[in-house]
Amino acid sequence: MEGMDYFYELFCSLPRGGPGDNNSTRKAFRYLKNLPSEPLLLDIGCGHGVQTLELARNTKGTIIALDTYQPFLDILKQNATKEELGARVIPKNQSMLEMDFADETFDIIWSEGALYFMGFQNGLKRCHQLLKKNGYLGVTEAVYLKSTIPVSLKEFWDEEYPDIKDINSNISLIQNEGFELLGHFTLPTSSWTDEFYSPMKTQINRLKKKYHDNTTALQVFDECEKEIKIYDTYSDYFGYEFFIAQKRNE
Ligand code: SAM
Repeated sequence: MEGMDYFYELFCSLPRGGPGDNNSTRKAFRYLKNLPSEPLLLDIGCGHGVQTLELARNTKGTIIALDTYQPFLDILKQNATKEELGARVIPKNQSMLEMDFADETFDIIWSEGALYFMGFQNGLKRCHQLLKKNGYLGVTEAVYLKSTIPVSLKEFWDEEYPDIKDINSNISLIQNEGFELLGHFTLPTSSWTDEFYSPMKTQINRLKKKYHDNTTALQVFDECEKEIKIYDTYSDYFGYEFFIAQKRNE
């Protein structure tokens, strides 16, 4: 097995694929007003689909849930069926870089912790094309929370995601790409710890025992632990910001 296989084994055992929580999904969703009775939604980089299901619980609409990793889509499908939401949740295995939807298709586009895979600005442009007039966008993005960043944290982000910006720079991007910003808020610490890193720590401990003599696997888990440590040390300096915006009617 290769490094990515161990990474995916770890991630498939987690409740979700990144920081987030249902309260924050609902809080962001409440900014959306005057929605059609059955809106069409797109969830980009849905992963296990925790937020997809929360969206399905909060609307009577249909959600196309897009990801490139089929086992995540299978988990979503299974959970949607369990909750009898299967008819309104449509998993789609397609890259966000190759989306084949017609322009102005969606009432709402959602993306928690994933739009950056196509570059945040490029992702905003693509969402703008795919949204109907006055359509809504809900997106989380990694941000710097302070103006002065410790050198070792800066080095971490330079390697992981050099495009990370502060909140105001992201707001400017959103506005420059033809959206009106309706609101934004920082995800609470618990959506990193309780929802993501605590379960990750538990699973890493289990997998480290399972793969105790496998250097490749142990390296993957070490990298994940390094990321947890970065958050434990520097959580005052960075976070995920939820941005909620509406396509301007131009
Ligand atoms: N939104 C989920 C959540 O908050 O739990 C998952 C977030 S996870 C950080 C990012 C997701 O983006 C992963 O499920 C990954 O498979 C997916 N992804 C990565 N590159 C992608 C691409 N090119 N097209 C579609 N999805 C992609």
